[in-house]
Amino acid sequence: MNKEAHQLKDVLGSRGLKNTRERDTILRELEARKGHFNAEKLFSVLNRKGAKVSRPTIYRTLKLLEKYHLIDRLDIKQNCFYYEPKYQKKDHGHLICEKCGKIIDFPSESFNTLKSEIGKDKNFKLDNISIQVFGVCRSCRKASRSKN
Ligand SMILES: [Zn+2]
Ligand SMILES: [Zn+2]
Repeated sequence: MNKEAHQLKDVLGSRGLKNTRERDTILRELEARKGHFNAEKLFSVLNRKGAKVSRPTIYRTLKLLEKYHLIDRLDIKQNCFYYEPKYQKKDHGHLICEKCGKIIDFPSESFNTLKSEIGKDKNFKLDNISIQVFGVCRSCRKASRSKN
């Protein structure tokens, strides 16, 4: 098990949360995930692997990790949430396709400038910037073009 999963476990442990076997399985799977995922996907991946983890446990665990800021939640549309581990990435924005729901990361060097500028202007200490841009991705545009 690598450092990240230890971190997740350690943080939860330090809050006095016992790691159950089910939660362990979820943390291990999260460690292997690089991109964005949702609870249902996690559930089906784990089940395909033969792990016995219930849906409610997954939802509970994700909520917990979110509460301790170990994962970020992206609200794609109403009642559709995606998550991504926080420790793997720097500040970045998200391009979200309104047709297929694809999420594309875009890193931005200007986030730091943005932080200090907005911070100075409003006298506000910014920790995180989350930018979500909605639109239509390239393959969806291509698909709609070929239909016409
Ligand atoms: Zn698309
Ligand atoms: Zn992302």
